[in-house]
Amino acid sequence: VLLDDYRERRRLAAEEERLLARLADVDCVTQDGCAVTLLANIERPEEAEDAMHVGAEGIGLFRSEFLFLNRCQLPDEEEQYRAYRQVLETLQGRPVTIRTIDVGADKILPAQALIPGATSALGRRAIRYSLAEPEMFLVQLRALLRASVHGNLQILLPMLTQPHEVDEAMLLLAQARQELASRGEPVAEHIPVGGMIEVPAAALSAGIFASKLDFLAIGTNDLVQYTLAIDRTDQRIAHLYDELHPAVLRLIALTIRAARKASKPVCVCGEMAGEHRVAPLLLGMGLRSFSMLPSRLLRVKSEVLKVDTRQLTPLVRRMLVQDDLGSIRRGLACLGIDDVSAVSSLSGAVNA
Ligand code: PEP
Ligand code: MG
Repeated sequence: VLLDDYRERRRLAAEEERLLARLADVDCVTQDGCAVTLLANIERPEEAEDAMHVGAEGIGLFRSEFLFLNRCQLPDEEEQYRAYRQVLETLQGRPVTIRTIDVGADKILPAQALIPGATSALGRRAIRYSLAEPEMFLVQLRALLRASVHGNLQILLPMLTQPHEVDEAMLLLAQARQELASRGEPVAEHIPVGGMIEVPAAALSAGIFASKLDFLAIGTNDLVQYTLAIDRTDQRIAHLYDELHPAVLRLIALTIRAARKASKPVCVCGEMAGEHRVAPLLLGMGLRSFSMLPSRLLRVKSEVLKVDTRQLTPLVRRMLVQDDLGSIRRGLACLGIDDVSAVSSLSGAVNA
């Protein structure tokens, strides 16, 4: 009986997979005609093929730090250039958002291994590390700029907290451009630069970042961690990791609103974007761009095709002004998100 049950489940899963595969070429539009952009998250250049296979409209997040991890020597400019170029060429002109290295905390470089506090999520990680190591950062920026002539590149800065971090990164980018110009290397004229909103301080001042940058990307994995003070690598508190906590939802909604007000594109690229049950909620907040693991993309698309944002938007707006958790949970249930614990534990497992 157990074996029959298993076979039946496998048959249903294969059937679902087959039906979803048909959606790869279908336009991603809601019932009321809103176009929604579905992008892929990748960690290795080879994974760009998976993104193309599921019909992603681009790469919303290439976590470039994976080129740097688990090795003794950092990749030089040439090696990085080849990796970025490979992704840009695979995507054939579709936008490719490459995030500058996000190391520290759970992703440690050999050079950081002996530094006290390097594993702290509140330490010198992500953009803080890059700005503290300008020589290393310049190598990456030159590699990115050189690759820019091979496709549609966008650069993304991780874990911003202070607007001056954007200014400092822009100065280094200009310096990298100049260095390449003096070497006679061609570089694309305009390369959009965006920032990750994944710290509550950045979400609460999203307007400033939206005005300084070309686009925003909301990193819900870290936004949940920092808002709820839950170390995302600590299994003992994983059950408290709740991406549907009202505080988190409000910060996401606030960021989307700030970006829209500044007429700048905004995307969610944390694991939340790949959770199909949460898609109606994010659509109701006004989000029109999602970036996720390629394996999640078609399932999310099947959900987007079903919804009508004219109904969702007032529902979500009413829900977000509620103060008690119970009302918010009921609002989520109306959106079909009643299995909250399953959703949360799924994302809580990220990077654990
Ligand atoms: C995030 O924090 O949501 C994110 C996309 O970045 P990472 O998971 O790589 O920290
Ligand atoms: Mg992050």
